[in-house]
Amino acid sequence: MVNSSLTYKIGETADRTGTYECLICKYAGVVTEVHVEKGKILPMCATCKDSDTTWHFKKSS
Ligand SMILES: [Zn+2]
Repeated sequence: MVNSSLTYKIGETADRTGTYECLICKYAGVVTEVHVEKGKILPMCATCKDSDTTWHFKKSS
């Protein structure tokens, strides 16, 4: 997977507010993005429902 400090597992706390992209969906050719605010918990992906996915921080908002 992506080796970057901008990746988060489900249940981790977001340390920035913005758009996060599910990497399991991304590698499957599907774009799944969620907006998470700083201090909130990264959710399970509603699309792939994989409990071990990684969220990649994409852009601030
Ligand atoms: Zn997903």
